[in-house]
Amino acid sequence: MHAHPDDESINNGSTMARYAAEGVRVTLVTCTLGEGGEVIPPELAHLAQGWDDTLGAHRINELAAAMRELGVTDHRFLGGAGRYRDSGMMGVPDNENPACFWQADVDEAAGHLVAVIREVRPQVLVTYDEQGGYGHPDHIQAHRVALRGHELAADPAFRPELGPAWRIAKVYYNRMPRSVIEAGLRRTAADAPFKGVAPVDQIPGVVDDEVVTTALDNAAYVGAKAAAMRAHATQIVVDGNHFALSNELGQPLIASEYYQLVRGTPGPDGPETDLFAGVAR
Ligand SMILES: [Zn+2]
Repeated sequence: MHAHPDDESINNGSTMARYAAEGVRVTLVTCTLGEGGEVIPPELAHLAQGWDDTLGAHRINELAAAMRELGVTDHRFLGGAGRYRDSGMMGVPDNENPACFWQADVDEAAGHLVAVIREVRPQVLVTYDEQGGYGHPDHIQAHRVALRGHELAADPAFRPELGPAWRIAKVYYNRMPRSVIEAGLRRTAADAPFKGVAPVDQIPGVVDDEVVTTALDNAAYVGAKAAAMRAHATQIVVDGNHFALSNELGQPLIASEYYQLVRGTPGPDGPETDLFAGVAR
């Protein structure tokens, strides 16, 4: 469950590629088209909100290309493409747009997710923490809708016409261990293909290392992750083992991905290295 096209590749690209390659069904639900994003390539600047305002349609294609790189065939927009509009960063006037995701009724939005959950019947749900990882309104709202959808999907009294109740066994937040990102940012600063490096407080999901319950060593899939990130060309520039968003501040492109189990039972064999530890795939 993600807020905008590109979040999935940045946060979970190697995880999605790994499970898809291992034959596990992977479903991506994206909540908005990312219409409010800044556009990096000058020749595409006209797509942006305030100019042609056609960035959303363009990003549908970028997301489809990213999913091909990850080998993921099931990707959907919450309530259908364009149902919820990008809310922009916290505090901007777009936050007040009645069409934006930040203004969505949480239970109504969660109903769209319940329909997907009851159809797909997943064992695992991945979302952001209550701060949306770094405070973006669409990411905060995605967190709220994901947890509400998880709850309502398991309630047989909620909209039985959407299918039989289904309880997802495990729910995770995306995480980034502080020691890993600090070391990565030092590498990026040393190589410096960009004008500077991103401050740690702009990196989503950073927590003290001991908060992380689950570390996936996805080294074999870092190439797929990088290719998927490159597919979001309006949003991301990838340079070797580093990348930058429109602010041109470098970040490390890290193969391993990290999670915090927040609902369900940890796997039986100590610190988890698999989101499906203890549950059937
Ligand atoms: Zn986002």
